[in-house]
Amino acid sequence: MTPETPLPGPGPVDPAGAAALLAGARDVLVVGHVRPDADAAGSAIALATALRRAGTGAAVAFGGPDPVPHMVTVLDPDGIVVPAADAPADPDVLVCCDISSAPRIGDLGDRLDRARVSLAIDHHASFTGFATHHLVDPAAPATVLLVRDVLVALGAEVDAVIARALFAGLYTDTGGFRWGGADALRLGAELVEAGAEPRELMRELTGTRPFAWLAAQATVLAGARREPDAAGGAGLVWAAVDPATATRFRDHTPGLVGQLLATAGDGVAALLTETAPGEWSVSLRGTGSPDLSRAATALGGGGHPAAAGFERTGTRDGILDLLRAELAGAAQVCGTSPEVHPRDTRVR
Ligand code: 5GP
Ligand code: MN
Repeated sequence: MTPETPLPGPGPVDPAGAAALLAGARDVLVVGHVRPDADAAGSAIALATALRRAGTGAAVAFGGPDPVPHMVTVLDPDGIVVPAADAPADPDVLVCCDISSAPRIGDLGDRLDRARVSLAIDHHASFTGFATHHLVDPAAPATVLLVRDVLVALGAEVDAVIARALFAGLYTDTGGFRWGGADALRLGAELVEAGAEPRELMRELTGTRPFAWLAAQATVLAGARREPDAAGGAGLVWAAVDPATATRFRDHTPGLVGQLLATAGDGVAALLTETAPGEWSVSLRGTGSPDLSRAATALGGGGHPAAAGFERTGTRDGILDLLRAELAGAAQVCGTSPEVHPRDTRVR
């Protein structure tokens, strides 16, 4: 802990400032973004676990949809994650992990006004500044690296539960250490030494699928389409997931966007998932050029240059038309000013 660190005023904080806010908290609610991925969930679970071990009341919740993905339960052996309905109504401190904008808190958005302090820990360039305090670094390849810095500032011991949660987010957001360089690999090594066994962990997280997934996956991929002229000539490969498949295989469909990307060359991959009739969640992947976070933000979402997403109501073809138009526009910007995204090709 860092009791000598003065409590920072509203605005940007460094890891020591974030630790000071947390060390002085009465109780803490830690949330990740809706439809949590391993970076959101791992960040939240690692931080809340460390706080609880230090004697601070802490819980994790996600603002929908219920139930949480299987991945969350794998990372939560102590049951620190509570259903959104059971999340404390008036937390002293609210921490928002891997959340770039307030709507991504989902059903727990009211906690933002009710908490005395809200602290965003995030790595999106599209971060909107929605919390009272922010620890935000768009150069960080994953939010878990920022959480690790806070844990160091808190003097928290990284046990196996915390190590597994951090490793899951690190591995996922760096595309299996393709991005993030030596820093990510060094943290990975530290976490393995602290008890995150990669083979066992990745098998638990994503390594096993129901047999029926083979046929379901084949159906989705057989419906994929390639549009070579899209995205200013870079090309687009897209596929759509119907609501029944999206519901039955909700833990498995998100990974399909990686398979689309592998066939997209230097172009863009889009996975359009109809989560309920007329409601779409769209995942975009590319090389960073065109800037997908720009296209996704224009469509109501956000993300990173090489990985972004948005949610929208409408028809599949209507959403594809909007996407084609934004990708063409983003490609035009890239064509005239390549310095818009100088080096950022990380996955999320
Ligand atoms: P994914 O495709 O894995 O869901 O998300 C890729 C990246 O885009 C992540 O950084 C994620 O936070 C961001 N993202 C995905 N969907 C949305 C969305 O609806 N709104 C915003 N603001 N960001 C999104
Ligand atoms: Mn992330």
